[in-house]
Order: sequence, then C-alpha cells, then structure tokens
Amino acid sequence: MTQKRKLIAGNWKMNGALQANDALVRAVVAGMQDAACEVAVCVPAPYLAQVQMLKSGSKLELGAQDVSQHASGAYTGEVSAPMLREFGVRYAIVGHSERRQYHGETDALVAEKARAALAHGITPIACVGETLAEREAGQTEEVVKRQLAAVIHVNGHCISEIVVAYEPVWAIGTGRTATPEQAQQVHALLRKQLAAATAQADRVRILHGGSMNAANAASLLAQPDIDGGLIGGASLKAPDFLQIIAAGSR
Ligand code: PEP
Repeated sequence: MTQKRKLIAGNWKMNGALQANDALVRAVVAGMQDAACEVAVCVPAPYLAQVQMLKSGSKLELGAQDVSQHASGAYTGEVSAPMLREFGVRYAIVGHSERRQYHGETDALVAEKARAALAHGITPIACVGETLAEREAGQTEEVVKRQLAAVIHVNGHCISEIVVAYEPVWAIGTGRTATPEQAQQVHALLRKQLAAATAQADRVRILHGGSMNAANAASLLAQPDIDGGLIGGASLKAPDFLQIIAAGSR
C-alpha cells in the first residue's frame, strides 16, 4: 500500500440554507488551514454557486451529490457534468445508497454516471455497500463486488481516476458504525478487485462512510485500506467535521 493524501468528503444530503451554509463553510475553511488531507463538501445543487464563492481562495473542494448520465437535453430535473464543471465542481457522488433505494438507481446507471463525470473532468465518488439483510445473509462480498464490477466494466480504461466509497447501508445515518476490522476487511477486497483491473489500484482512494464521527474517525482512518471518509450528518457541524479532518491529517 502506498501512502496517499486522505480525502475527507462531506455529504450534506438535502440539508442547508443560505445563512447556515455561510456559517458552516466559513468555519470549515478557517479550521482546515493546516489540514494535511484533502477536504471536499458535496452540497445540494442550488448551493453550488454559493459554496463556490465561499470557498474561493481556500483548499476546500466542491462536490455534487449526483450527476446525470447525459451531457444535455430533454431530461427535466437533471443536472449534467458540464453544468457542474461550470461551478468548479471537482467531485460527484454517484450511486449513493439513498439514490439506489429511493430513485431506483441500478448498478448500470451508476456506472454510466461515473462515465459522464469522468468524461467532463469530474472525479466520481462511486458508492457501494450492502444492506443489513444482505450482511446477515452473508452476501456482503458478493454485493459490493457486483456494484464495483459494474463501474469497472464501463470505466475500466480510467478506473484509477475514480474514488470508491464503501458505505454499509445499515450504518448510514443510523449511529451504527462498522468496526475498523469489519470495514478494513471489505476495503481490502475492493482493493483486490481494483488491482485485477488496474496496475494502479494503490492510487485509488477507498473512502469509508456510515455514521463516521469525531469519536470513531481516527480508528477507522488508521486502517491500511481506508483512504478517507464520506461523512453525512457530522459534516453539518463544523467542529465535528474539523475533528474528522484532523484525524484524516494524521
Ligand atoms: C452518507 O450520507 O454518505 C453518510 C455516510 O451519512 P452518515 O455519516 O450520516 O451516516
């Protein structure tokens, strides 16, 4: 495993308001000046312009929470990668479990979204993760491998350019967290899967997500195949998010 800069990415989900965003981003920017890791916030689309302005001159990166598989056209409600680029977006989450669950996003669609992002200079953060029922049925490995295989199948030629996020669905927003050992086990097998597709698998950052917080971040981020975090709830509170950033800087 080669040493690489960790990525701590916040996922605001459908939260935020102009005034609250202002305070949150200013506090994060002020507090992350000495961060040794990379930091991003994935914000709701209407706030991209606001956060682009608030973060200017800082090292904070901007992310989106989704991206259309299409570049333009009659797709009401969708936001394309070229549009996101115009707002300085560097990362786009694809295949978050909430999109898979509530919007019926399939493995194939997620792979196409990753392709669209890459084609326009945006790094997809491709999410994989098993539900509680799947874990209890012993299907964790099969599920995450299937989800990642779809992304590799479509994007194999530039798979070392993506970011992967392993987020056990049972840990997202529930306060339940995978133990560092449980998490590392899955991260290691995702790394192995990437290694079969690219000689540069060590370059790929595999983030961990699912109720990561100020208290548990350090032990998760200390695992050899955990290269950062995708942080939901705790990214909405500057002090908590900054503590996770500090843990990612060690
Ligand atoms: C997420 O939204 O990707 C997430 C991991 O949420 P939380 O940290 O709130 O579990």
